[in-house]
Amino acid sequence: MLLTEQTEMIQSVARKIAKEQIAPQAKEVDEKGETPWANLKVLAENGFFGINVPEEYGGVGSDMVSHVTVVEEIASVCASTSVSLSTQALTIAPFLLAGTEGQKKKYVTSLATGQVLGSFGITEPGAGSDVASIKTSAVREGDHYRINGHKVFITNAGESEIYVFVTRTSESRTNGVSLFIVEKGTPGLTFGKKEEKMGIRGSVTREVFLENVKVPVENRIGEEGEGFKILMNVFNETRPVVGAQATGIARGAYEHCLNYVIERQQFNKPLHHFQMVQAMLADMAMKIEASRLLVLKAAMMLDQHDPNVIANSSMAKCFASDVAMEVTTNAVQLLGGYGYVKDYPLERMMRDAKITQIYEGTNQIQRVIIAKQIIENAKK
Ligand SMILES: Cc1cc2nc3c(=O)[nH]c(=O)nc-3n(C[C@H](O)[C@H](O)[C@H](O)COP(=O)(O)OP(=O)(O)OC[C@H]3O[C@@H](n4cnc5c(N)ncnc54)[C@H](O)[C@@H]3O)c2cc1C
Repeated sequence: MLLTEQTEMIQSVARKIAKEQIAPQAKEVDEKGETPWANLKVLAENGFFGINVPEEYGGVGSDMVSHVTVVEEIASVCASTSVSLSTQALTIAPFLLAGTEGQKKKYVTSLATGQVLGSFGITEPGAGSDVASIKTSAVREGDHYRINGHKVFITNAGESEIYVFVTRTSESRTNGVSLFIVEKGTPGLTFGKKEEKMGIRGSVTREVFLENVKVPVENRIGEEGEGFKILMNVFNETRPVVGAQATGIARGAYEHCLNYVIERQQFNKPLHHFQMVQAMLADMAMKIEASRLLVLKAAMMLDQHDPNVIANSSMAKCFASDVAMEVTTNAVQLLGGYGYVKDYPLERMMRDAKITQIYEGTNQIQRVIIAKQIIENAKK
């Protein structure tokens, strides 16, 4: 009812593909802990990496609402696979917001078609939530820059061909930040070991080292010193995508749980006859619905270029990820011992849910952002 005919069509294709082609491998993807290339090929063949990217840059040319709808469907069966969609969106966003025509043609086209993966390197050992304290430096030397630094927790590092790095071009905290494109294979760009993670184990996370990496001036996205502003706008666009991922994980867990409590009998009754179980199901359904609506509202605001989207993007990410953690935990509870073992997908979903409260800005940081905007608005 809320969605246009085109979005409903994209959603139904994504749902079918998720169920038939992604879900069967989800357990194996988690166990292997490697990039699920076969799944990513399916996503690419169906245009899922570029749903909201204009057609002239290899995308489908639809909108953010369709994009978050696809991410929810994929995440509902395999969160690891959905991380490639959200990370690709994170890498594409700075190009669309501030890239030159040449950069968009050269890089966005191969990212949006899913020909190659992209990574976005912000976090450093000493700079997580406090992004403006990054130390990776980019020093201009004539027609090129030299980049030196160390990034941590970079999704798809080593697997991606295209990297966007957040660097420091002057001492000014926020006005001294600039973004650069670095291609895999550039001398001085190397990768650390794969992190062993609690969840989203089929999404590879590595450290990145930049040692005297030389990139031409044309590889800078936006003007020197504009990087922080671009980055904040990127997050406005990508936080609802993480919200959609969280909504998908929660929905996947809820649907398994619902089937289980209808089948499973204790005290000579199916579990769903017990009022305490019913209340848990009702809370799950209600909160998942609320998550989806917050995600859709933020996506709609982005499609309408609404400048007030900042708080809404953070609300979508923060609420949906808190719900994902709560719903997956309660779904494990309702499966009892079976929820805790790997024969059922619930323990995986609970592990996968946790990261959505941490990356793309922790939920404490989202609350800081929401409070800042509502207080500013109240003072106007
Ligand atoms: C699996 C995974 C994938 C990731 N992918 C990427 C990626 O692709 N690219 C990238 O750049 N980064 C990535 N990250 C990094 C991620 O974004 C950071 O871990 C996250 O932003 C938090 O930073 P931190 O880990 O340094 O924690 P800190 O910033 O050290 O925070 C520690 C704790 O303190 C709290 N805290 C900090 N400041 C405040 C404050 N002002 N008020 C209240 N509480 C506060 C935090 O909420 C948190 O609970 C990834 C991380 C993981 C685990």
